[in-house]
Amino acid sequence: MSLQDKVLSSSEVLNFGGSGFRSLDDIKELEGGREGLNAFLAVAEPEDLEACGQGPLEGVMVALKDNICTKRLPTTCGSRILKGYRSPYEATVVRRLRRAGALIAGKTNLDEFGMGSSTENSAFGPTLNPVDRSLVPGGSSGGSAAAVAAGYVRMALGSDTGGSVRQPAAFCGVVGIKPTYGRISRYGLIAFASSLDQIGTIGATVLEASLLLEVVSGHDTRDSTSAEKPVPRYRDAAVQGIEGMVVGIPTEYFPEQLDPPVRALLDDACERLVAAGAEVRPVSLPHTEFAIPCYYVLATAEASSNLARYDGVRFGARLPAEGLDRMYELTRGNFGAEVKRRIMLGTYVLSSGYYDAYYGTAQRTRASIAHDFTAAFNEVDVLFTPTSPTPAFPLGERVLDPVAMYLSDVFTVTANLAGIPGLSVPIGTVGGLPLGGQLLGPWWGESHIIAAAGALEASYREDT
Ligand code: GLN
Repeated sequence: MSLQDKVLSSSEVLNFGGSGFRSLDDIKELEGGREGLNAFLAVAEPEDLEACGQGPLEGVMVALKDNICTKRLPTTCGSRILKGYRSPYEATVVRRLRRAGALIAGKTNLDEFGMGSSTENSAFGPTLNPVDRSLVPGGSSGGSAAAVAAGYVRMALGSDTGGSVRQPAAFCGVVGIKPTYGRISRYGLIAFASSLDQIGTIGATVLEASLLLEVVSGHDTRDSTSAEKPVPRYRDAAVQGIEGMVVGIPTEYFPEQLDPPVRALLDDACERLVAAGAEVRPVSLPHTEFAIPCYYVLATAEASSNLARYDGVRFGARLPAEGLDRMYELTRGNFGAEVKRRIMLGTYVLSSGYYDAYYGTAQRTRASIAHDFTAAFNEVDVLFTPTSPTPAFPLGERVLDPVAMYLSDVFTVTANLAGIPGLSVPIGTVGGLPLGGQLLGPWWGESHIIAAAGALEASYREDT
């Protein structure tokens, strides 16, 4: 079966079962051959698949972004600095997956420490988009999105600090959910920007992404930022319908520069929402234009603080025997260019004399962006926007132009700044490439955005 066939078959009905051992061989064979996408940094061996619990994911293979700590497989964050690193403990999401019966298929490629929008910033080479191998899969959870789109696994976890689950899901034609800040425990998620990071789920369908969300959500005593809120049956929301739902269309997310074919697909999606029983009306989120500068001040400030721990003292397991000189040799220059750029920018915006002008201003802007959402959600149940301004772009196109790269997240960073849930669902193709529509909901409104995405997905399924 070719990869393209797998992409198509992965949108079929939920079909669990099988021990999954054969799939591990499939993944190894496909990834090892000329068709390989470099979606995985490590594939599990059958003996790594520990006996697991009985639950809604019994026997289901799930892939994990390689910034989620696992004991049996290395956790590298796509960085040379953590090459071969083995965590002494396991992330809470991993324990929850096992309890639900899931099998951990392997660890997926990412932009180093989650910093990027194309998975080209990985120290271990880029991941290719299974839909068209000359294109990026998006990022930073590009390996997870590609693994699902290629049919290697039907579900994967990613992390989303500014769009890293939703944007790659859009580029690869799968479903990605970034829940409310605090919905999923981050114990064992390696930190990038702590006030923005959330683990998110990727699935071949809305149902699968929602079921995975249901399994990994919930309070955890090991993460004080996880919320003590009951976890609804998100899988039911996926099929509940949207009769009477009010969908806001924020004018700021539909700029003049949007390509006409992109706009046409978005308009068509709006009509489908109406046909499914929703009411659509325009709204305004006036501070949207400040989102990217605000995000890149806050995210780099937090990253510079979080990454200070990789000073070569704590993660050099091989070092004691080899001495200090070797330690410096191993750690010097081990961060990639994008990570260094962010540490420098983040250190600068936090430095004395500039702190208030940059960091303080960004914090106040963040509050205004969150307030825009509060006001909008007084009027509407959910918001509908593009996930990214364009479909997947060619490998190499934006590597030397960081600002162009940053702008591919212009519609996703606002949800992280405000802490609200967001979801990307496929809404058709432009020139053969998948385009994603984004649904944003109020705090703890995952069920609403899942319902809206489920209705859209059902409408496209009726076409075929
Ligand atoms: N592309 C954004 C960044 O580079 C978002 C990354 C993410 O969500 N991890 O920071």
